[in-house]
Amino acid sequence: MRRLRRRIEFFQGTLDSTSEISEARIFDTTLRDGEQSPRTSFSYEDKREIAAILDDMGTHVIEAGFPVNSDAEFEAVQDIADAAANSTVCGLARVVDKDIEAALDSGVDLVHVFCSTSDVQLQDSMHTSRQEALERSVEAVERVTEAGVDCMYSPMDATRTDESFLIDVIEAVSDAGTDWINIPDTCGVATPRRFYDMVEAVCEHTDADVDVHTHDDFGLAAANALSGYEAGAAQAQVSVNGIGERAGNAAYEEVVMALESLYDVDTGIKTERITELARVVEEKSDIPVPANKPIVGDNAFSHESGIHAAGVIENADTFEPGVMTPEMVGATRELVLGKHTGTHSVRERLEDAGFEPTDAEVREVTRMVKDHGANKEQVTFERLKEFAKEVGVRREEVRA
Ligand code: MN
Repeated sequence: MRRLRRRIEFFQGTLDSTSEISEARIFDTTLRDGEQSPRTSFSYEDKREIAAILDDMGTHVIEAGFPVNSDAEFEAVQDIADAAANSTVCGLARVVDKDIEAALDSGVDLVHVFCSTSDVQLQDSMHTSRQEALERSVEAVERVTEAGVDCMYSPMDATRTDESFLIDVIEAVSDAGTDWINIPDTCGVATPRRFYDMVEAVCEHTDADVDVHTHDDFGLAAANALSGYEAGAAQAQVSVNGIGERAGNAAYEEVVMALESLYDVDTGIKTERITELARVVEEKSDIPVPANKPIVGDNAFSHESGIHAAGVIENADTFEPGVMTPEMVGATRELVLGKHTGTHSVRERLEDAGFEPTDAEVREVTRMVKDHGANKEQVTFERLKEFAKEVGVRREEVRA
């Protein structure tokens, strides 16, 4: 695959080759936690389409759904598991027999069992005791591993769980043979430093691989996921456009691109399809992507202000990260015309349209663009061409 990665200076050195993260797998939960977004539901066809793109991109794990939920969900998970060529397909289950049997019957490669471990959830959600939760967790892991299927165990609400009880649970399910321990920050209360310490401590108490699941209640989901990798997690759970419960999960595009561009980790993912993937999930989830969303928002690679646009025309590294380009994610750079536009953008856009403006004409058209933009009116490319004609800018001769 063509490597688009670039080198760039950062404070005390070059942002390249000295990675603090050795292994970084991506577990996508768009079709499970993402679907649990308020007011979102994916059809069977939606799930198949999104899974096919994730699989083709080389996403390591696709959590396809919660098989016990309904016949339609079971069928979608089963068919995604059948169709996947690259990805490991995962199904979710509570520590309840019928959930685990449904997940096993669906033919997934990995069963993800979860059980609350924080006192608040044990008392007021599961209505059970710590001891009961621990026993049911061990039984669930044993059932999955006995079936010869890989198991991931999640102590739900781990970041609000009593530390010694959490370690007891982790040691017990590790002894029961779980392949993965997921550390979920279910309610989004972790900070990068605290989460680092927590993941590091968990790694010391298990031989299973560790993965993390972070939520964006304080806008820290991606930072916490990356902190998890730095502390020794091999994998993080993400969702496309960051959709999920409440404020959502760590965003697929943010975590993948931070790994690739800032940590110099080769995830093996076809990042050039990220923009297309984001558009498909935006449409199917009915959750609009904000314009200022990192990487996949409309403004992520757009420039309007005169200084920035002029710099970017000369060299995009002036006012973009440099280590991440629009091409790397299948997006395009855009010079937006409006109130803050300068003459460089106007000249560039006029020349693109085949005009040959003089400096005075560029200044005149720029004044018209700024006036128009100041009235909050959108300056489209068509409008720009009308301005150019009004001013009488000469067009290139059309050659035969
Ligand atoms: Mn979650």
